[in-house]
Amino acid sequence: MTHLTPVYEAVVKRNPGETEFHQAVQEVLESLEPVALKYPEFVKAGIFERFVEPERQIMFRVPWVDDAGKVQVNRGFRVQFNSAIGPYKGGIRLHPSVNLGIIKFLGFEQILKNSLTTLPMGGGKGGSDFDPKGKSDMEVMRFCQSFMLELTRYIGPDTDVPAGDIGTGGREIGYMFGMYKKLRNEFTGVLTGKGLQYGGSLARTEATGYGLCYFMDEAMKAKGKTFSGSTVVISGSGNVAIYATQKATQLGAKVVALSDSNGYIYDKTGIKLETVQLIKEVQRGRISEYVQHHPEAEYHDGCSGIWSIPCDIALPSATQNEIDGVSAKMLVQNGCFAVGEGANMPSTPEAVEVFLKNRIIYGPAKAANAGGVATSGLEMSQNSMRLSWTFEEVDAKLKEIMVSIYKNASAAAAEFGDADNLVLGANIAGFMKVARAMLAQGVTY
Ligand code: NDP
Repeated sequence: MTHLTPVYEAVVKRNPGETEFHQAVQEVLESLEPVALKYPEFVKAGIFERFVEPERQIMFRVPWVDDAGKVQVNRGFRVQFNSAIGPYKGGIRLHPSVNLGIIKFLGFEQILKNSLTTLPMGGGKGGSDFDPKGKSDMEVMRFCQSFMLELTRYIGPDTDVPAGDIGTGGREIGYMFGMYKKLRNEFTGVLTGKGLQYGGSLARTEATGYGLCYFMDEAMKAKGKTFSGSTVVISGSGNVAIYATQKATQLGAKVVALSDSNGYIYDKTGIKLETVQLIKEVQRGRISEYVQHHPEAEYHDGCSGIWSIPCDIALPSATQNEIDGVSAKMLVQNGCFAVGEGANMPSTPEAVEVFLKNRIIYGPAKAANAGGVATSGLEMSQNSMRLSWTFEEVDAKLKEIMVSIYKNASAAAAEFGDADNLVLGANIAGFMKVARAMLAQGVTY
């Protein structure tokens, strides 16, 4: 960086300790350096400085009562990062690791991701350090109701539309929606990822995992590669990982490994997804239980070992910074030719460098996993029109969007002189629309 170095330095100074946020900003600003040179009007209007500062950051107390009658206190967050092209939109993460820096990195990435979908959605993100694991349904409900009691002041179908993320699935969205409706006495599309009975969209559950595979399929086709006959390793065993496994298998690949935050399973004969869905979606159990159903498979403690399994395609779909430089090198040495990010920022900067240097077909998160929010955008449209599209209609639109994201990112990368660099392409393609909108709207925020 040269032109944008002061912008990055100011972010580090103003947001001490927010390492994930610094990491995300650095990667994006590095890509935007040629944009700053080509478009001096953006520099003059302070677009870059404004772009890295959230429009609004909300932090609040979330008190709730556990099953033993004890009062618990968590911290809630909503970062409304950028509304230049539409209402703030982004998920709610419920995980003990959540802090302001993590929510800001996710909200920042979300601006570009939402722009890439071509739908009118601004960027935001929220969450809490509440851990749904091991809590009863009633405890989860009381937490979600308390969380919404405060969040309701800041959101609305034309203002900010939250969705799911790690730890926030259909159950949590249902409890939050119920509370919002009670408080507002309004039935609106204020949250996405809703149940099908009350305004949810078909194919939303599958969308991120399916979209990831559609994106990678397109990127691989351009290089003469395909899912068909390939061996795939996927980390995580949550929403994204499960439906990426399903679609990759439908496209002719063999998925041999999945994980959770305790360890990973390796099934050389191919993962039996029904068993994973039973353990994870129905019983809310641990991935280690898979070997009780399939003794021929192996279970290993620890997460990073999964990247030592030889594969053609890796789809990290658990969490941020799960592939470091060492794991990335191991993947490349073992013959992996494509990496598609289902999770947000799963590769460290060192890992990204390894992928780019070795000309791996690398689909960065904000492009490759945009299918979830794209389908949330389609859920918002259906809610506004008060009608429901069929699974096939939504799936076809999702596929169309993922192909166009690949094409736009690829074209931007070529325009700025590094044809196969989809990190560069996705950052620039996402940024241009937001920057032009900010310029047109004047210095209002
Ligand atoms: P889920 O909560 O459904 O699943 C998360 C999975 O990742 C679980 O298997 C979980 O294991 C594992 N995991 C979580 N934290 C860690 C950790 N610190 N170390 C190792 N493994 C971990 O979440 P999603 O599948 O929805 O989200 C996964 C990723 O995809 C996240 O980065 C999210 O931001 C991103 N994403 C999700 C979208 C969506 O539509 N859901 C859209 C776009 C991106 P365990 O059960 O042990 O916690």
